[in-house]
Amino acid sequence: MQTEGIGLEYFPYNAIILEYYKHSFRVIDTNERTLQSEGISRENFIGKKIDDLVENLTEIGFYKDLLSVYNTGERKDLYLPFYQKNKLTKYHKGTIQRLPNKTLLLAYKDIDNSQDLKLQESLEKFEKISNNSLFGVFMFKETYTYANEAFLKMTGYSFEELQTMRPWELANPSAHKELKKNIQRRLSGEIFLSTYEKVQLHTKDGRDLCIKLSVESVYYEGGYGGIGTVVDISDVIEKKHKLRLLAQALEQTDNMLMISDVNGYITYINDILATTFEYTKEELLGAKTNIFKSGRYENSFYEDLWNTILAGENYHNKIVNKTKSGKFIDVELNITPIYANGKVESFVATSKDITEETSTQKRLHELATKDALTKISNRYAISKYIHEQVISFNRNHSPFALIMFDIDRFKIFNDTYGHYVGDLVLIDVCQEISKNLRPLDRFGRWGGEEFMIMLPDTKEEEALLAAQKIRKLIENISINGNYHVTISAGVCVYRGDETRLELLNRVDKALYEAKESGRNRVVLKKSL
Ligand code: GH3
Ligand code: MG
Ligand code: MG
Repeated sequence: MQTEGIGLEYFPYNAIILEYYKHSFRVIDTNERTLQSEGISRENFIGKKIDDLVENLTEIGFYKDLLSVYNTGERKDLYLPFYQKNKLTKYHKGTIQRLPNKTLLLAYKDIDNSQDLKLQESLEKFEKISNNSLFGVFMFKETYTYANEAFLKMTGYSFEELQTMRPWELANPSAHKELKKNIQRRLSGEIFLSTYEKVQLHTKDGRDLCIKLSVESVYYEGGYGGIGTVVDISDVIEKKHKLRLLAQALEQTDNMLMISDVNGYITYINDILATTFEYTKEELLGAKTNIFKSGRYENSFYEDLWNTILAGENYHNKIVNKTKSGKFIDVELNITPIYANGKVESFVATSKDITEETSTQKRLHELATKDALTKISNRYAISKYIHEQVISFNRNHSPFALIMFDIDRFKIFNDTYGHYVGDLVLIDVCQEISKNLRPLDRFGRWGGEEFMIMLPDTKEEEALLAAQKIRKLIENISINGNYHVTISAGVCVYRGDETRLELLNRVDKALYEAKESGRNRVVLKKSL
């Protein structure tokens, strides 16, 4: 036999000798190992044309390979999928070489059958997964060789178009160099994994997607290539960007911000809140919101707050909180419940330090209602109290009285001791009288050295007694140890059938009469 010289039986692979025959090749020799692995008898094999033995001969390029080796004498490596009834059953890996007598030696090794089937299974699984996947999946060699639905959708290209495209072409040109280098390393058989966290992918309709890409080397269909997965992260990036802006805004805002869970444990605070309340963020995270309690409110106050927000309603109030060192801070507080799955899950509290605002408001209020020299109510404020009493009298008929007094001969006092001493007298007189009034009594400077006292819930006799008591008090004190003054006072009790102005007029008259009748006196005037 022609081939005896190479001792086919001792060959460590399946071996078939083929000769060119009628535009095809036919088997002229083989070894036992081949017959066994192909499951065929020598009679049915020797002399057969390969067209009859191998299905899809031209499709898989086998015939072309044989012909090329036959014509050129150049040895060729093989990686042949073998199909039985259209099902991939095994792979043959081997070589074709031309022997000196122009026959061809086809030497190949079966790849382990169970491995093949496993591969087949995983290929099927892969197909299934990749086609249902939200991730884009593609495979490539010199050009794209596979793309799942998601990848086609993402890129906007059809598979036919991708088949003509180089695997780096879809990426932004700035990434071409690196991708190309890695793709070439893969095609030449290097096995490695690459992940690219952010690649710009240019779609067919001109959009730029931001993708996360990972690529692995794979060996399939007789050569090295790559398999890649792609996730469109444009949305994620956009959201991240927005979240970062939001976080920045929260950190930079003048408002204090706190997030807590339904049990009142703090889960987030911004810098300004921590700083304002003199804590570190670490001290506050995980602490309870009642860490800020000022102790200025009853428990029912906080119960009301919790009931409101646990019911899913907004809470808004101005409250006083306490810092770590015990300083009180007025805050304007707004709490918004946050829902998750239909349930209140957390609370976002924004607040503003209004301590200064509050104290400014207090100062403004003082300026508007207090007399600068004596610190008692000014005319505006005492008028308002009288007005309110007149109104409430119409509702509950509770009597109230006015005492109007004026310092006697004060002009002379000033002329004698000086205006400055006169001022001290005014201050001291007011302090002494204030100390002797009841909490609900109102005392104001009517003008110059004229004063008005409003006594709620007071009848004529009581009012008269009170006025006498005040008159005596002033008569008996010595101011700064040296100075003495007296006062004259008019007393009136509101009658209910007069206006506020008529009442004021009456009490003025009473005072006048007290002056007229000799000073350092009290006159009660029941009617004009
Ligand atoms: P009388 O009331 O007994 O009739 O005599 P009088 O001298 O007190 O007269 P009148 O009540 O009209 O006097 C007003 C005087 O009070 C004029 C002014 O010198 C003095 N006076 C008014 N306001 C002030 C003040 O704010 N400080 C000082 N030191 N004196 C004042
Ligand atoms: Mg006077
Ligand atoms: Mg006067």
